[in-house]
Amino acid sequence: MLLDTTNKKAICFENSYVLLGKEFYASVKPTPVEMPCIVKLNYSLALDLGFDFSEFEQGELAEIFSGNQILPGAEPLAMVYAGHQFGNLVPQLGDGRAILLGEVIDNSNFRRDIQLKGAGLTPFSRQGDGRAALGPVLREYIISEAMYALGIPTTRSLGVVTTGEPVYREKVLPGAILTRVALGHVRVGTFQYFSLQRDETALKKLADYVIDRNYPLIKKVKNPYLKLLEELMDRHAKLVTQWMQVGFIHGVMNTDNMAISGETIDYGPCAFMDTFDQTKVFSSIDHMGRYAYGNQPSILQWNLARFAETILPLIDKVPDHAVALANEVIETYPELFKYYWLSGMRRKLGLFTSETEDEALIQSLLDIMQENEADFTMTFRKLCYAARGSGQEGSLRDLFKDSKSYKKWALNWRARMSRELKTPDDHFELMRQANPAIIPRNHRVEQALASAVDDGDFGPFETFLELLSSPYVEPKSHTEYLAPPKPEENVLQTFCGT
Ligand code: AMP
Ligand code: MG
Repeated sequence: MLLDTTNKKAICFENSYVLLGKEFYASVKPTPVEMPCIVKLNYSLALDLGFDFSEFEQGELAEIFSGNQILPGAEPLAMVYAGHQFGNLVPQLGDGRAILLGEVIDNSNFRRDIQLKGAGLTPFSRQGDGRAALGPVLREYIISEAMYALGIPTTRSLGVVTTGEPVYREKVLPGAILTRVALGHVRVGTFQYFSLQRDETALKKLADYVIDRNYPLIKKVKNPYLKLLEELMDRHAKLVTQWMQVGFIHGVMNTDNMAISGETIDYGPCAFMDTFDQTKVFSSIDHMGRYAYGNQPSILQWNLARFAETILPLIDKVPDHAVALANEVIETYPELFKYYWLSGMRRKLGLFTSETEDEALIQSLLDIMQENEADFTMTFRKLCYAARGSGQEGSLRDLFKDSKSYKKWALNWRARMSRELKTPDDHFELMRQANPAIIPRNHRVEQALASAVDDGDFGPFETFLELLSSPYVEPKSHTEYLAPPKPEENVLQTFCGT
């Protein structure tokens, strides 16, 4: 079906990535699907992007977001990249099932990529089928939008269509396509690809592109490429701190899943933990626990080092100088991470000022949470009320197997707070913004997906999304979504779903 867009405000695509040159991508059109059907549209994101969905019929939107209809101005492409997957270098990966339609300039003047994920084969599909199943697509929708509402940089989800076609995984599943929106899809792996090709011209083009697009303030500094490393480190140190402070486990922190824009990207087998456990892993493919919760900060440093290696020739023509300069930056990472982490944790405990012993106070809480299998989200949320003295202390203690361990810790915490000369309400307000009441608990995610995929009932998916859109206030209804899983509801593993 051809769209008549003559009298309509069509989506105004730009294609800055295309201008980089043919070595950066393969031009490829989405493979049409049989029976596209819209199952979810993100109206508020559409508004930010300047799209007015109301100008289109649902059927037209289904054609557009399935890739069956390419709007004028779009120049679809699959990006090439490489990457370290679980520590092993793969010299060529690339978008195997994602197709970038183009970019739009949003209402805040940011350039955003509009990409279809699950849109068919590309030259980078390798053994894959280029498709995505409805479950993982809805999973990415829920989690990315929840991350956004939590205030954590992330790619966004603009819409979901079902394709009317089956995809074959362990079993036959309904196919779907996610429209993903990002400040950029360039990855650490994109730099690795050109570094492996020893193509310095392309590396420079790519670095200049991301500086221009994502780091415009560093354009004029003396060594913008060294500064890019520093800024990337800064954004990701903040990002991973934010993950840690809501109990998020990405699950596949491969270098091809690390966005230069500083957004959380490529939601695969990611999950939020319930019971606090530094060694927690959900991903069915992470056998060694490489990407366990507590390893995320050090994996980030490893990934940053891989990035630094790619841009050494841009940092300084003399290799030894380049290495020394890059090392100087990377060596500051542990301190930088600790700075962000401590600042965030102080907020979580209602502390406005810093004292040297804060780290020990925070660590001792995490230690007793681990020992006593305390629920991460509930502990911190109940601490907000405990700080205000609004009588949840009993149920907070009950989250710990040995409630005495909490009582002992709380004495130190209260002594620490009392030195700040703030009111209980001051502490409460600070904490309430740092400790979400609701997160996408894994068992609820799975239940919402099962209803949608197995029964065609999107009710739980919609209810859950609505609750997750205001994570820092207790919902008035559906409070069952706040609770940790019962033993029989516990989800032990998540699957990539690729
Ligand atoms: P991921 O683990 O989802 O980040 O994907 C790793 C690589 O595999 C990327 O290059 C993807 O584009 C590719 N890939 C994942 N699933 C598929 C699929 N179903 N078809 C083709 N390529 C895929
Ligand atoms: Mg990926």
